[in-house]
Amino acid sequence: MRSRYSAYALGNIDYLLQTTLPAQQSGLDREAIRTWSLQSTWLGLEVEAVELPAGQPEHAFVTFSARWHDASGAHAHRERSAFVRHAGRWYFIDPTVPLQVGRNDPCPCGNGLKFKKCCADALRQTSQALEG
Ligand SMILES: [Zn+2]
Repeated sequence: MRSRYSAYALGNIDYLLQTTLPAQQSGLDREAIRTWSLQSTWLGLEVEAVELPAGQPEHAFVTFSARWHDASGAHAHRERSAFVRHAGRWYFIDPTVPLQVGRNDPCPCGNGLKFKKCCADALRQTSQALEG
């Protein structure tokens, strides 16, 4: 999470793409991410909570808020993000990129479980933005 925030601040778009769930990477709008990253002044990140669901060592949720300003003023965003670990690396599950996968298909994160037993719940629990 912190490393992804740093990547936004530094304009390291490759890193942001590489740390998103591989099955979603082709659905990301690289230019939009790049523009947002470079045209914003990043003011700070606060990690409010890290949740590690019992019995699911491959899943984590991070609640954070980020502040930045750009030509239109100051902004804040608060989000509960889902992450999944595969082969020792953590990947961000982007709730804005649809996954074309059936509930009984192999999970696109590559953990070898069916989707419904793996990331489906994490995706359902993820909310793009939180109040306040
Ligand atoms: Zn999965």
